[in-house]
Amino acid sequence: MSAVMLDTLPDTPATTADSVKKAQKLAFENNKLEKRLFRLTGQAIGDYNMIEAGDRVMVCMSGGKDSYAMLDILLKLRARAPIDFDIIAVNLDQKQPGFPEHVLPDYLRSLGVPFHIENQDTYSIVKRLVPEGKTTCSLCSRLRRGILYRVAGELGATKIALGHHRDDIIETVFLNLFYGGKLKGMPPKLQSDDGKNVVIRPLAYVKEHDLERYAQYKQFPIIPCTLCGSQPNLKRAEMKALIRQWEKQHPGRIKSIFSALGNVIPSHLMDANIHDFKNLRATGAPDPQGDIAFDEDPCGTGEDASIIRIAQFDE
Ligand code: SF4
Repeated sequence: MSAVMLDTLPDTPATTADSVKKAQKLAFENNKLEKRLFRLTGQAIGDYNMIEAGDRVMVCMSGGKDSYAMLDILLKLRARAPIDFDIIAVNLDQKQPGFPEHVLPDYLRSLGVPFHIENQDTYSIVKRLVPEGKTTCSLCSRLRRGILYRVAGELGATKIALGHHRDDIIETVFLNLFYGGKLKGMPPKLQSDDGKNVVIRPLAYVKEHDLERYAQYKQFPIIPCTLCGSQPNLKRAEMKALIRQWEKQHPGRIKSIFSALGNVIPSHLMDANIHDFKNLRATGAPDPQGDIAFDEDPCGTGEDASIIRIAQFDE
C-alpha cells in the first residue's frame, strides 16, 4: 500500500485512543516537570536568601534555554510570593552577525515584562583581540559580565540573576579541579567582581536535562550562542560529557557530588587560609566525624577502622 493511501486512511478508534493516552501522559509529565522546577528554584532562592522584599531583579537573557526558563519560573514564583519584588529582563546584543534582534523583544513584549536591550559590539572586539582558531568565549563572557554589571547599576537593579544550573556548577568544579588546581565552583549567590552588585543563580538546584525538556515544552524561541562562529569550549564540553556518562553509569554519583559542595569540611582539606592548621592543638574531645569515616576495614572484621589503625601504629 502506498504512503499516500496510508495517509488518507481514517483514524481507527484504537489509534485515536492511543494518541489520547500519549497526550495525557505527556501533559502529566510536563506538569510534574514544571512543579519540580518551581520547587527546586523556590528552594534555592529560600536556602540562600536570594531575593528579598523590594528587590529589583535584573534577569539576564541570552536567548538560550536556561535564561528563558529562569525568567518564566521567576515570573510565576513572583505571582505567588508573599513578598513584592520587581523583575526587569536585560539582553546584551553583542552584534554577532545574524543575531535575530527582534526575537527577544517580541517575546518579552508578549509577556508584558519590562526589559532593556543593551547594544554593544563586543563581537568586533573579540574578533580583533583573539587570534584566529582560539576559543573566544572566555574574553566574550568577561566583556559581557562587565557590561551587565554597569547596566545593573544604571537600571537600579539590586540583584543580577544568571541562568546557570546544577550541571554548570558541577562542570565548573571539575574544570577548576582538573585544569585550574583549585577547589572552586560557582556559588548560588555572590558579590559581583566589581563589589557593587549581588549575583544570584536561582536555577542552581535544577538539572540541565530538565531545562532542555522545559524549553521544548514551552517552545521558547531559542537563539544559539554560536552565531559568532566560535569553537565550542572543548574543556567544558569534556566535563559535560563526563558528567552525563557518570549520571548514566553510576546513578547517585552526581547527587553525591552536588551535596558535597554544600557540605565542606575545611579541617579535612589542606588550605591553611581557611583552617588554622598551625595553631591546631588537641582539645581532648573526640571527633566522630574525624579522619576515619571512609576508611576501609583492611581486615574485613567489621571492627572500627580507627582501632585497627591505632593497633597498626602500635606495632
Ligand atoms: S559562543 Fe560566541 S557569543 Fe557565545 S560566549 Fe562564546 S564567543 Fe561569546
